[in-house]
Amino acid sequence: MNANTRPPATIIGAGLVGSLLATLLAQRGFDVEVFERRPDPRLHGFLGGRSINLALAERGLNALRKAGLADVVLAQAVMMRGRMVHAPDGSTNLQRYGLDDSEVIRSVSRGGLNILLLNAAERAGARLHFDAALADADFESGDITLASHDGSVRAHRAGSLLGCDGAGSALRAALSKATDLGERVEPLGHGYKELEIPPPEGGGFAIEANALHIWPRGNYMCIALPNTEGNFTVTLFLPNEGPFPSFATLPGAATARGFFEDQFADALALMPTFDEDWDAHPVGQLATLYLERWHLRGRAVLLGDAAHAIVPFHGQGMNAGFEDAVELAALLAAQPGDPAAVFAEFAARRKPNADAIAAMSLVNYIEMRDGVADPHYLLKRELAAALTVRAPTHFKSHYRMVSFTSLPYADCLERDRRQDALMETLLAGHDRLEGIDLGAASERVRRELPPLPQGI
Ligand SMILES: Cc1cc2nc3c(=O)[nH]c(=O)nc-3n(C[C@H](O)[C@H](O)[C@H](O)COP(=O)(O)OP(=O)(O)OC[C@H]3O[C@@H](n4cnc5c(N)ncnc54)[C@H](O)[C@@H]3O)c2cc1C
Repeated sequence: MNANTRPPATIIGAGLVGSLLATLLAQRGFDVEVFERRPDPRLHGFLGGRSINLALAERGLNALRKAGLADVVLAQAVMMRGRMVHAPDGSTNLQRYGLDDSEVIRSVSRGGLNILLLNAAERAGARLHFDAALADADFESGDITLASHDGSVRAHRAGSLLGCDGAGSALRAALSKATDLGERVEPLGHGYKELEIPPPEGGGFAIEANALHIWPRGNYMCIALPNTEGNFTVTLFLPNEGPFPSFATLPGAATARGFFEDQFADALALMPTFDEDWDAHPVGQLATLYLERWHLRGRAVLLGDAAHAIVPFHGQGMNAGFEDAVELAALLAAQPGDPAAVFAEFAARRKPNADAIAAMSLVNYIEMRDGVADPHYLLKRELAAALTVRAPTHFKSHYRMVSFTSLPYADCLERDRRQDALMETLLAGHDRLEGIDLGAASERVRRELPPLPQGI
C-alpha cells in the first residue's frame, strides 16, 4: 500500500508511549493525530515541575534506535553500572548489574524524554493536540468526545484509536462500557514519595553518580537515581497503612524526619529541602493492572500502562511500553488495511510478555528491599556470575536477561525459573562459592538448560 493511502491513526495520550508510537507511525507514512489531556509541556513545563527520572534499559533503547533517537537520548542520560547498596551503618557496596560497562542501565529525565519524543513526533509529521482529553468514544460511529480544561467539549471523527493514556486510561473506561475487558487491578498496598538530593555547592554529585542507590530496609526501601544536572530523585517505598513505619504513621515532615534519622541518616544529611518536599509531595499509589482483552475489533487497542500498568521495581514499565509501540507500528505497517487482525495479533504477542514482566516486577520489590542484603541471595548472585562466564551460551542471570537483552519477557521468566531451580540444587549445603565444583556445575547447565537464542 502506498504511504499516502494509509488510514488515519488516532493516538490518545502523548506521554512516553504515545509520543514514541506517533513518531514510529508518522515515520512509516501514517496520517497520525494525537490527543493529549495536558497542556503542551514544551510551552508550559510539566505540572509540578519536579525532575523525575526513569531507568532506560536495552529494550527501551532498542525501540528508540528504531525511531533514530537512541543517540540523542543517550546524550541526555546518566549511566548506572550497578546498585549502590547503603547499609544502616552508612557503609556502601556496589553490586554491578552486568559483567562490565557494556551492560549498564541509564537514568533519563521523564520530562526531558517526553519533550524529545514530542518534537520527534511532530518532525515526523504527526499532528499533536494538547488540552484535549478523551472524555468518551462511540466505537460504532468512530466519533470521540474531547474535553478542554475550560469545560468546553467537542466531537471529532477518529481513525483507529490507539490508547496510550496511561494507567487511568479514559479509552479503557470507554471500551469497558462497550465490551468486557476482564479488568483486574491488584493494589500493592505500598505507596511512594519523591524527595531530592541536590548537587553539592561546588557542583558535581553528592553521592556516586553512576549507580542506582538503594537503602534496603526489609519491608521498605529508598532508592535514588541521578540526573544530568547533578541532583538525585529519591523515592521512598513504604506500606500505606499498618503499624510504624507506614505512610499512615508518618503524616507530616516532623515524624518523617525522625524515621529518616533512624533509617536513612546518610541520605537525610544530603536533603536540605526534606521537610518541604515531604509535606508538598503526594504519596503515589502502586498497583498492577491485568486485562483479558486489549482491543475492540479494529476500532481501538490499548498499549503501555493503559493495557498493563505494573509496579516499578524492575524499572521496565516504560521499556515494556516502548516494545509495545515498536511491535504495533511494525504490525500496522505490514497490514495497514486490517486493523482488526493487527490488534488481535498485537495483543496475542504482547500480553504473555506483559503478564511476565508484571510478575517479575512484583518479585523484584522483595529482592530490592530485602534480598540485596541477604547472604543466600548474594551467594546465588555470585554463582550466577560464575555460570554466566563459564557457560555463556546457556546461562544469563535474571537481571541481565531482562535489562540487557530483548529476549521476550515471557521467555526470560521461563528461563529464570529453570536457572533458579538449578542454582538452588547446586547451592544445597553450601554457604560459600569455593566449595562448588564450577566446572561440573557449568557442564550441568549446558546439559540441562536450552541454549540461549543468538543475537538477542
Ligand atoms: C515511581 C515510578 C517509577 C518508575 N520507574 C520506571 C523506570 O525506572 N523505568 C521504566 O521503564 N518505567 C518506570 N516506571 C513506569 C513508567 O512510568 C510507565 O510505564 C510509563 O510512564 C508508561 O507510559 P505511558 O505513555 O503508557 O503512560 P503515561 O506516561 O502515564 O502517559 C499517559 C499520557 O496520557 C495522557 N492522558 C491521560 N488521560 C488522558 C485522556 N483522557 N485523554 C488524553 N490524554 C490523556 C497523560 O496526560 C499522559 O501524558 C515508573 C513508574 C512509577 C510510578
